[in-house]
Amino acid sequence: MRSLPPLDNTPAPGLWIDTEDNTTIRFELSVDQATGTLIRDAVWQVARAADISQARAMVMLILGQATTSVTTHLYTAKDIPGAPVFHPLTGVLTEQAAQRLLGISERATDMDTAATAHTPAYTPTPAIRAFLVGRDWCCRWPGCGAPALGEDNDHRINHHQGGPTTPANMVMLCRHHHNRKTDLQATYLLDPITGDVFWLFADGTWAVDHAEGPLAPVEKRWVQTYTQRRQRRGERAAARAAAQEFQAYQEGAPERVEAHARLEEAINQADTDPGRAPPD
Ligand SMILES: [Zn+2]
Repeated sequence: MRSLPPLDNTPAPGLWIDTEDNTTIRFELSVDQATGTLIRDAVWQVARAADISQARAMVMLILGQATTSVTTHLYTAKDIPGAPVFHPLTGVLTEQAAQRLLGISERATDMDTAATAHTPAYTPTPAIRAFLVGRDWCCRWPGCGAPALGEDNDHRINHHQGGPTTPANMVMLCRHHHNRKTDLQATYLLDPITGDVFWLFADGTWAVDHAEGPLAPVEKRWVQTYTQRRQRRGERAAARAAAQEFQAYQEGAPERVEAHARLEEAINQADTDPGRAPPD
């Protein structure tokens, strides 16, 4: 990988090392956004490839026990001057970080072409996968905020049943939700134009999940950060839980009406018949 060009006004890296107790040492590293984004990608990619935690991946990278040629994907509109530049983990980059990272980028991929690209293979091409990440941004299970970058590509109609490997037949799902979908606890329809996913769950309930990546047609305002997106998804998950709770409450309404009627009847009886002897 080419190294980032130095900039005068880039904050110098800071490193704090603390002997926490007799058994552990704590490291805290602060770097500029462009450098941090590259480190994040490197750690993420090693962790995913070896199926280990990001902390362990970082240790292995620092001690030379792992190497990676880091791939960093940036998303920006080619036809809008000064359009924000997005990174799948960092979100919207500062202008300076975007300039520095774009300055060392080696390849540009046209996402308009990738949006309709096909491959006969089961595994999507890097361009198709990059489009899926840019459209979905997070796992598409309603309310799940796992970043799409490290997730599975799911074929809506299975590849072995004739489902094509193309964005119109694919969404990003985290491993956990991919397994739940595969276990037939849920099924979905994908609107190929909007990227919206309509989920139908085994209990008969349904939910809509809107595509929220910078490539999603409804997200053309290009302003949301990854964190804001995740927060919005969390809020929607909370709204869905509240809706389910309300539904359960409504379903219990007849019992409550009956109980209330019984209570009123008892009160009326007590009012009209004050002379009754107390029970033994
Ligand atoms: Zn998920």
